[in-house]
Amino acid sequence: MMLDCSRHFFTPQFIKKQIDALAYFKLNRFHWHLTDGGGWRLEVKKYPKLIEETAYRTQNDWTKWWREHDRRYCHASDSGAYGGYYTQEDVRDIVAYAAKQHITVIPEIEMPGHSNEVFAAYPNLTCEGKAYTSPDFCPGNDSVFTFLEGVLTEVMQLFPSKYIHIGGDEAWQEKWKSCPKCQKRMKDEGLKDTHELQAYFIMRIEKFLNAHGRKLLGWDEIMQGQLAPNAAVMSWTGEEAGLKAAKAGHHVVMTPGAYCYLDMYQDVPFTQPKAMGGYVPLEKVYSYEPIANKEAATMLEKYVDGVQGNLWTEEVPTPEHAEYMLYPRMLAIARWDGHAIDQLTITSETALFML
Ligand SMILES: [Zn+2]
Repeated sequence: MMLDCSRHFFTPQFIKKQIDALAYFKLNRFHWHLTDGGGWRLEVKKYPKLIEETAYRTQNDWTKWWREHDRRYCHASDSGAYGGYYTQEDVRDIVAYAAKQHITVIPEIEMPGHSNEVFAAYPNLTCEGKAYTSPDFCPGNDSVFTFLEGVLTEVMQLFPSKYIHIGGDEAWQEKWKSCPKCQKRMKDEGLKDTHELQAYFIMRIEKFLNAHGRKLLGWDEIMQGQLAPNAAVMSWTGEEAGLKAAKAGHHVVMTPGAYCYLDMYQDVPFTQPKAMGGYVPLEKVYSYEPIANKEAATMLEKYVDGVQGNLWTEEVPTPEHAEYMLYPRMLAIARWDGHAIDQLTITSETALFML
């Protein structure tokens, strides 16, 4: 299960409650989305401004804040400030709590895109050197890698997981096209477009993680340009990317949005609180079979490590609402045990019976 704690902040107590639920239903990974444009949520001792300057924003309502383009961060003490962060002590406590229940916590630190908040604290890391100009790190700037390696060093100290998730999705890449530093990097490294520049960025981070005994995991856009040699892929845009990566010998987690994005409507929209556009009812989640292609199944079983349900929280401001979106659909995710099943056995009646 993945929970987005950037768009809305959820307390350590709430995270532990979810860990209990995951253990009860025999889910074994908690993917913790800790950083994004909604606010930076992890205390990093080397870069204290991350939480001082970007863990709070000017209002709670993400839609008003983001879509109406306020998008400003503020200090905890400012009037109307919304946000929060996890101290390193909180993180150690949660990781240990999860480990006792045989759950591995995999942290996600977003790069090179979805990083608007970072630049409010450290504007020099973006192409124009100014805050509020781009969601992307500047891959032409070596200070960016110094910064990210500093962050990841502390992340690795806090999280013993084999995999470190580096995001990698939806980088805008627009400023890279006119940034002199990015253009120089592309020329020096013989990169023909910004997709290849992104691949350079991801591979450089992968080298760093591998040198410290960890493996890189990212959303399927990390396959743009060229997939880093040892990377694992979370296939969210559909199944194609995951199948392609698995066939090339990369480990994958299948989590196609059409089945596994639990921020979408689970029933007729007019009966529901506001959700992301899209319709993912319980039956649909339950019907998902990541290795339905039996011809490919034998080979893929080796590389398809599992399935994941994701709760993005743009429209999910409270803990009650988060649980309403997560359950029972997470239970339908939990039913996959890693083996191909006969699609014909799945009906809404059996799904409801199982739940
Ligand atoms: Zn740049």
